[in-house]
Amino acid sequence: MITGDTILRISLKKLGENMDALRQLARESVAVMAVIKANAYGHGAIEIAPTLLRHGARYLAVARMEEALPLREKYPNAPLFVLGRTPDHLLPLALERQITLTIFSLQQAKLLSSLAEKMQKKAVVHLKIETGFNRLGTDDLDELKAILSLPHLDTEGLYSHLALKDRATDKAQLQKFMSIADALEKTGHTFRYRHIADSISAVDYPDFRLNMIRPGAVLYGMKGFESDALSVKPVLSMETRIARLRKVEEGEGVGYDLLWQAKRPSLIATLPFGYADGYPRNLSGKGYVTIKGKKCPIIGLMCMDQCMADVTDVPDVQEGDVAIIYGDGSHNTLSIAEAAALVGTNKNELLCRLSSRPVRIYEEE
Ligand SMILES: *Cc1c(COP(=O)(O)O)cnc(C)c1O
Repeated sequence: MITGDTILRISLKKLGENMDALRQLARESVAVMAVIKANAYGHGAIEIAPTLLRHGARYLAVARMEEALPLREKYPNAPLFVLGRTPDHLLPLALERQITLTIFSLQQAKLLSSLAEKMQKKAVVHLKIETGFNRLGTDDLDELKAILSLPHLDTEGLYSHLALKDRATDKAQLQKFMSIADALEKTGHTFRYRHIADSISAVDYPDFRLNMIRPGAVLYGMKGFESDALSVKPVLSMETRIARLRKVEEGEGVGYDLLWQAKRPSLIATLPFGYADGYPRNLSGKGYVTIKGKKCPIIGLMCMDQCMADVTDVPDVQEGDVAIIYGDGSHNTLSIAEAAALVGTNKNELLCRLSSRPVRIYEEE
């Protein structure tokens, strides 16, 4: 892979440390299903999977089968889990590739069981329980019991997902989940795993950890939780180098529509990153890059592949100097959290929209 000037640095060391810190916070008996959907929130699922497994992930979870398949190609023995609904026509492939599925309808469970019988396998599944999010899952006890009675399913787990509106509604979801779990276990079935906690609830609500948690964001160092009990660091940073410096006179415009106009004689840096790299176009006029420790506003309209920054106040700035696009927030760098607040979205969206164009560099140290 050729590396240009615009790169994403991904610290496998910090990723491992975040995972260790989370596992220390949760009890020994709490297994971690590490969520690596959407190319591991932009960090590169294939590349980071070994670090998560080495640091004790029990499962690697993705949203869809299409995401699980390349992971299976690369890692024949990794425990892989699909969080979404798998279309019926992909069930044979899931069985063949030993991918653990989310199931919540008797119709699909019957189909999977009969396919498993034909292929002389057991289908490992977790049942998704509807507890109030109203996205996926069922709360029909008869349907769930009928699924449990199917002969060729290994119903290893039971899970649900929180709406995170407030503590009271989250608690109500947990209670509904536990009462369904208990009712099902009264039939004689025991679930190896029960899970309901994403990153935020896994950190902030110790009693929601049950015996498995499903963190995504927190592994990448994103702090959405309130507790001080856990400290994690951002795993990803993004940087580029100045492609060209140009002096403009007072009153001259820069970029499309000549939208930005110099209020004083200015020095403008052209930077080789744009919205096609996954940087939000509407950070134009709000975002900044950091050059030699100084905040340099991104000016005018962000282009697809480039943008311009005002570097008038950076002493002795040179073409080729490094510009930090996303940092950890220290040393005047723009953090993912601050960028998300500036454009009115969440941190996960900014991470997972990072495109494949910026080359990802993985660092062990
Ligand atoms: C994405 C996802 C998670 C992880 O969410 P984070 O907020 O990133 O921790 C957990 N469970 C399900 C079902 C998900 O879709």
